[in-house]
Amino acid sequence: MQIIPGLHQIAGGAANVYLIVEPQGLTLIDTGLPRFHRKIFKYMANLGFQPGQVRNVIITHADGDHYGSLGAIKAASGGRVYASPLEADAISEGTLSRPLKLSGLGKLLFDLSFSLFRPKAVNPDQLLEGGQSLPIFGGMQVIATPGHTPGHISLFAPAPSVLFCGDSLRATSQGRLTPSRGRNTWDQAQALDSLRAQAALNPQIVCPGHGPVIHAASDKFPLV
Ligand SMILES: [Zn+2]
Repeated sequence: MQIIPGLHQIAGGAANVYLIVEPQGLTLIDTGLPRFHRKIFKYMANLGFQPGQVRNVIITHADGDHYGSLGAIKAASGGRVYASPLEADAISEGTLSRPLKLSGLGKLLFDLSFSLFRPKAVNPDQLLEGGQSLPIFGGMQVIATPGHTPGHISLFAPAPSVLFCGDSLRATSQGRLTPSRGRNTWDQAQALDSLRAQAALNPQIVCPGHGPVIHAASDKFPLV
């Protein structure tokens, strides 16, 4: 689905994938579960692009639904892979960047699904820190948004006023934004700080890891 010219959401892979189309090449933000690369490449093919045109792949955090297809995409495209140092450590080992607060049946189910959808280990090419900016989408700022995971990053493109927030924010089906919370949140206080920092950017469009794209987004943040 095209969000605005040059920006697409590819949904249906557990986590949303975003595709940025520029004359110098394509950028993916997150990759969905293992095997979702087929759907990504099909979407790209419908726009007339080949896998080899993917130049950059940015991973917001090391959960399997976000970097599951990274190995296949890297192999097919040779694109440059970016992640924060803490998340890159986990991605290079095919693991998570934090323990989940699960027990009993929840843990059993997670362990089962993780072994079924185990992401392939990939060595990121470039480490990203908050405050850096990338020559993508008119100059994309890297925002450190820890909380959901220790090294979670978001990306903010000021010119189109688009924020890619990964799982640092949740988008509800009613079109509102909430902080990451609950058992998969590594540090709740940091998650709230990250929400405040992102609200202060006043983004017009928020592209979340799960749920719908939020438009007129600066009004959709909760007061926390
Ligand atoms: Zn997720």
